[in-house]
Amino acid sequence: MKGVIVTGASSGIGKAIALRFAKEGAFVALVARSEDKLKENVKEIEGLGGKAVYYTADVRDFKRAEEIVKDFHQKAERIDVLVNNAGATRDKFLIQMKEEDFSEIVDINLKGTFNFSRAVSRIMLRQKGGVIINISSVVGITGNPGQANYAASKAGIIAFTKSLAKELGSRNIRVVAVAPGFVETKMTESLPEDVKKAYLETIALRRFASPDDIAGVVAFLASDDASYISGQVIVVDGGMI
Ligand code: NAP
Repeated sequence: MKGVIVTGASSGIGKAIALRFAKEGAFVALVARSEDKLKENVKEIEGLGGKAVYYTADVRDFKRAEEIVKDFHQKAERIDVLVNNAGATRDKFLIQMKEEDFSEIVDINLKGTFNFSRAVSRIMLRQKGGVIINISSVVGITGNPGQANYAASKAGIIAFTKSLAKELGSRNIRVVAVAPGFVETKMTESLPEDVKKAYLETIALRRFASPDDIAGVVAFLASDDASYISGQVIVVDGGMI
């Protein structure tokens, strides 16, 4: 049974990814801060006949990441896949952006990705195999006004991914980034209708992504069908950029 860790698995894309892996027969560890939602998601997976556990954590906490990985490794015996999906936004123009708006977003999105990658890497090196999938964003490629903190963190994830792919590839560890466009989740639901409409007009497929659109690509990248893909950024944006 594959052992899979998904951060930010309490809602949105992370929840869809966790469900997808569980349906494919993996043992999944769901990580986030909201215990109630994590519990519900584990119940949902168990209801489908799948196997899952949850861990409450703030991904900014390096020691907690190590604890979780150690504990899950004992339970699952293997860690085949890590999906660094936890992420947050604090959208503001630079002139209004406070120091903590910048550091908080970089800490959650980029350092959180480092924390869990660092923790699983030792195990994957010993296993001589594994896949790390980092959820970036198209704005990490294009930039976006009002999102300098978020875009910088997501661009950082891309450089981090490419570096790890080169470092770990000789041990059969693949590292890939996924850059979604506009996905309908809690993160995007509060955007004003006129902003959503303007985004929609830039999307070739003229629809927003569902979390399952992203989960399917993540599942493919984790599978043996993608065994020769590493160090790449897979854009999943319906033809937006
Ligand atoms: P979401 O529904 O708001 O989910 C965000 C997830 O991250 C939640 O599970 C949240 O859980 C977790 N999280 C946030 N801060 C955390 C922290 N400090 N420690 C641990 N977990 C934390 O949004 P989403 O759209 O699914 O986002 C998932 C990922 O996709 C993010 O990395 C986001 O940047 C990326 N993305 C989204 C879009 C989009 O259009 N929605 C586009 C491109 C990329 P708790 O609050 O329970 O901790």
